[in-house]
Amino acid sequence: MSDRGLASTYRNQYILPEGVCMKGRIITRQKCELCGEKLVWKPERSGCFCEKHPQVSATRFIVLFTGKIFQNFKDYRAAEQYLNYLRHEKGTRKNKFNPDDYKSAKPNSFLALKDKYIAKKKQKGLKSIKKITYIIDRAGEHFGYKNIREINGAEIEDYLDSIPNISEKTRYNHMTQLRDFWKWCLGRGNIITLAEMPIFPEIDYELEYRKITDWNTQEKIISKIKELSYDFNPKILLGIDMLSTYTALRPDDIRRLTESSLDSMGILSINRPTKSKKPKKLRLHDDHINEWRSLQEKYPALPDMPFFRHTKTYGRAKAGVVFGINYLYRWWERACKEVGLEGVPLYPGTKHTTATETAKLFDPETALKASGLTEEAFKRYCLVENIENLEVVTVIREKKKKADILPFKKPKKGNE
Ligand SMILES: [Zn+2]
Repeated sequence: MSDRGLASTYRNQYILPEGVCMKGRIITRQKCELCGEKLVWKPERSGCFCEKHPQVSATRFIVLFTGKIFQNFKDYRAAEQYLNYLRHEKGTRKNKFNPDDYKSAKPNSFLALKDKYIAKKKQKGLKSIKKITYIIDRAGEHFGYKNIREINGAEIEDYLDSIPNISEKTRYNHMTQLRDFWKWCLGRGNIITLAEMPIFPEIDYELEYRKITDWNTQEKIISKIKELSYDFNPKILLGIDMLSTYTALRPDDIRRLTESSLDSMGILSINRPTKSKKPKKLRLHDDHINEWRSLQEKYPALPDMPFFRHTKTYGRAKAGVVFGINYLYRWWERACKEVGLEGVPLYPGTKHTTATETAKLFDPETALKASGLTEEAFKRYCLVENIENLEVVTVIREKKKKADILPFKKPKKGNE
């Protein structure tokens, strides 16, 4: 039998690592057709045979292994391979070897576990149970009886990518739900170890999730902010305009700026920027430098005073105190309401919108070239973060000027 030849070849090639498990055996329920005796496993002959009639061999096999594992085979070679696989698993996984993984019912497969998971979620009376059930069932159709320990991050990513006609937000929801399922499996114990947990793919849905706008609308809002706030406190406009120009700037960075944050070369330093410990540096556009300086003349203050502060006491806002964390947000929202834009908060409306619009304008080569500045004056600032923004920012400013909003300097009504 050619199968037997293959089997012995396979067996000879199977090199036993040190300490490998030699448990388990292959049996058959078939009896000798001549004498009715049991057929006995003869590994050296690759099969099960009658002791008295060596020519009588079995055609059905069962692999028996520790932990009540048994599996039927019609082919000796497959049975032998499976037994070797179990021995290898037992030998390498040692105490972590879980017989449930190898039983024919496959209790640690995706399909076997998913119903328990869903039942658990139902107990909690979650509103989102329908959605959870759909997501898990859908993945169950894909992963089937595969042991969840054997499903890696790449397979999960491929699965998520294969779901057609969904938004990135929805894809993200599928990912987090599957991740929760895996975490539940981890928590149950003896199914998967922490080290075996798949790495779940990152899905960047933020731009889509957080509604953004376009430059024209952004400029309409900034124009409205100017109209509403410039006479009251011109720093509101400057802060929001800076957020819409320098994508590296975060709303909270604005609040960390002091009177001394802008140096004589027009470099802005944020010493404790949010989300990172190294100081953030930005080369400001001349429009902003000029506005900054003119506001310093108008509202003189000590070097360590917060630059973006209330210039007069109004309600709960006290003159000289830094803008509250939601102060610019509220001005942005007020302007949005007047312009008729809904659902676009300050940050998506400024940073994300500008980043998206800029990406449309510049190809990657240009962006790269823009960072390779040669002028002596700029060489000094090679360490400055986002230096390429200077060129980009210049174009952004031109775009904005086309929208007839800027420059600053001349408030609608005199404010002297
Ligand atoms: Zn016999």
